[in-house]
Amino acid sequence: MTPVRDRLRVAIQKNGRLSEPARALLASCGLSWRESPDKLFCYGESAPVDLLLVRDDDIPGLIASGLCDLGVVGRNVLGEQMSDLRAANRDASVSELRALGFGGCKLSIAVPNDWTWTGPAMLSGKRLATSYPALLRDWLDANNVQADIVELSGSVEIAPRLGQADAICDLVSSGATLAANQLKPVEDILQSEAVLAGPVRDFDPALAGIAEMLLRRLDGVMKIRDSKLLMFQASRAALADVLPLLPDAEPPTMYPIGEDGMFAMQALCHGVVTWQRLEELKRAGARGLMVLPVERMLA
Ligand code: ATP
Ligand code: MG
Repeated sequence: MTPVRDRLRVAIQKNGRLSEPARALLASCGLSWRESPDKLFCYGESAPVDLLLVRDDDIPGLIASGLCDLGVVGRNVLGEQMSDLRAANRDASVSELRALGFGGCKLSIAVPNDWTWTGPAMLSGKRLATSYPALLRDWLDANNVQADIVELSGSVEIAPRLGQADAICDLVSSGATLAANQLKPVEDILQSEAVLAGPVRDFDPALAGIAEMLLRRLDGVMKIRDSKLLMFQASRAALADVLPLLPDAEPPTMYPIGEDGMFAMQALCHGVVTWQRLEELKRAGARGLMVLPVERMLA
């Protein structure tokens, strides 16, 4: 039996697209670490939260086996591995706890440029190359298409040119790689981004409190990521024109100030507060407008 741990262990990618943003996000939750000489393990200094640096493909398995408690991984990788388990009639034991807003990409079907795309039925009887066979199989089944899946671990986009496949299912962000291989995306089968993955089962009691603390901080960071505190003054009469210009704001705090019917207002806006928006607010009757950065928030 594995010994009970009293420190939370979070798996993140060692080298790759998600490594830096994952670390930066955890650091913005107030965590800091001391790195081991082999750079595979980081000991949490400011909180009992350690990092394990691994290949992204290993992250769901590490959580499923209980060797790690949480992980930052692409929805594409987590989805593929969980779908694969379900296809084998096994329980998907790891789930997405939070979407993290970075590492965005799409898992798409791409076909040669000279195909005139009429819909998924066109793929019947065709060979599709992919590194995501389980997700592709789910999509083909949902669309009632019978096609052959050619599983490749990399360089999927050259498979049609090599005659290995007729079309592909691969990750796309800008589409430049597809274009360079005379392919065009025609159907998106998954919108992916980095997610915080965790066990479906409850956390061990010794770790539940630490995990809750981390999730609470993460929610605070995510919530204010693009947020600004908007402060201004307005008369009661102007509020009917001013408030509709703040559709992305939390209900504002308002308190009466000296002059009759005037209020000092503060509103947390979750969208971008541009100069143009400030000018519109001013025209609607707001004055003394000020936009302040928000550093931390605890709901
Ligand atoms: P590892 O060595 O850890 O296995 P990898 O080569 O599998 O690394 P990366 O290429 O670093 O992984 O990609 C990690 C994740 O980044 C992907 O699984 C995906 O969620 C996301 N991602 C975002 N944009 C892209 C893109 N254009 N191509 C591939 N992955 C992308
Ligand atoms: Mg990988």
